[in-house]
Amino acid sequence: MTTATSPNYETVIGLEVHVQLKTQSKLFCRCRTDFGAPPNSQVCPVCTAQPGVLPVLNKKALEGIVKVGLAFGCAITQRTYFARKQYFYPDLPKAYQISQFENPVCKGGEVRISSSSGQKTVHLERIHLEEDAGKLLHAIGSTELPYSLVDLNRAGIPLMEIVSAPEMSSPEEAYEYLTVLKATIQYLGVSDCDMEKGSLRCDANISVRPRGETKLGTKVEVKNMNSFRAVKDAIAHEVDRQIGLRESGGKITQETRLWNEAQGATFSMRSKEEAHDYRYFPEPDLVPLDLASDWLEEIKKTIPELPHHRRARLVSELGLSDYDAGVLVGQKELVDFFEEGLNSFPSEKKKDWAKPLVNWVTTELLGRLNAEKKSVKESPVSALNMAELVGLIQSGQVSGKMGKDIFSEVYESGESPKKLVEKKGLSQVSDEGELLKFVEEVMQENPGIVQDVKGGKERAIGSLVGALMKKTKGRANPQLANELFKKKILS
Ligand SMILES: [Zn+2]
Repeated sequence: MTTATSPNYETVIGLEVHVQLKTQSKLFCRCRTDFGAPPNSQVCPVCTAQPGVLPVLNKKALEGIVKVGLAFGCAITQRTYFARKQYFYPDLPKAYQISQFENPVCKGGEVRISSSSGQKTVHLERIHLEEDAGKLLHAIGSTELPYSLVDLNRAGIPLMEIVSAPEMSSPEEAYEYLTVLKATIQYLGVSDCDMEKGSLRCDANISVRPRGETKLGTKVEVKNMNSFRAVKDAIAHEVDRQIGLRESGGKITQETRLWNEAQGATFSMRSKEEAHDYRYFPEPDLVPLDLASDWLEEIKKTIPELPHHRRARLVSELGLSDYDAGVLVGQKELVDFFEEGLNSFPSEKKKDWAKPLVNWVTTELLGRLNAEKKSVKESPVSALNMAELVGLIQSGQVSGKMGKDIFSEVYESGESPKKLVEKKGLSQVSDEGELLKFVEEVMQENPGIVQDVKGGKERAIGSLVGALMKKTKGRANPQLANELFKKKILS
């Protein structure tokens, strides 16, 4: 993959992100929103656009978008309107989508990300509420159909569209922006933001311009990415394509392109001339919405500690690095798991044991979970058991090497590490008397190395410790063994 950076060009990226709001019913009717239900089993006269029906707004969806707006510091519009966005497509039964045009629920706001040059603020243009369209099915399994099927379960599902200003300047920044957006929305509990289930979709507007120029270059919209990684790859590819075109004297056309994951390239879908004119006008079936300020105050009170606050707290309270704290807060369930474990430590140990706990959680546990495609919620090792194991290691009762074996067993059995250690007699040999026996044995078996150490090669003690660890099957405390060898040989 290319790096999408050039000394001569500057990249300008804006993202439009559609996020499904987690509600039990659709935006304007009482149909359920369950994922994976049989086709057309969650439909009614309203979302299939039968004559004579009227939409009624879902208050929970409005609450969700307001929470997101408040979390990103948007201005919440006091009087907001819905509008009809009109286009013809088989998955859109009304031939218009109820959306917002002027006066969306949220205006402005900002998303703070960390970029290669430090902290950066990406401004938001707006967040508005709209309904989703249905879904077309062109194939079943791998069999192409000679016709298309329409599933309207998604029609009318509440979405918010989050539009950023064109202020990101690399694929990495776009990736970071999406990560912060997703984490924040998940903390608020208003969406799962699961790209695989379609509850988060992202389109990217990308242009390049010679460095130093202020006018924006011709922008290309790229769609059809189904993971954050795909967004990053698609942007990198598109930037390279545009720079390549400019360098070779070609012209960039304003168009929409589709990302093809398998081929790692974008392909033209439609040009500007074919773009829709949506002929927006105010939705006559819905009254303007006045948001009461006491209602807004109530919602404000429900906003939890957000990722960037939590990150800062983990750094200042526990002395974690900004990087570690960032990895943890990037997934709400991960940081919840970490803090649950942390809180089981004796309070005077919390600060010292926090970093080892981070290491165990983010390398051993996440490594294993990722390999098995499991989420933190599905972890067979509970937060308390994870903390217990780290406690055993930190207090010297179990060696780090032994800890890995115990971890594997806890992962398989779900048992408590303490119980496992007791049952199997795995606890570390930290008793001087007991260890001394092994030290003497090892010295007898390795007279040559002992001579080397005596002759000044102190580093050779390492191989004696190695032999001792082998003899005790990893149960010895290596620091203590090292000291004992020094004492025996050198004094
Ligand atoms: Zn319905």
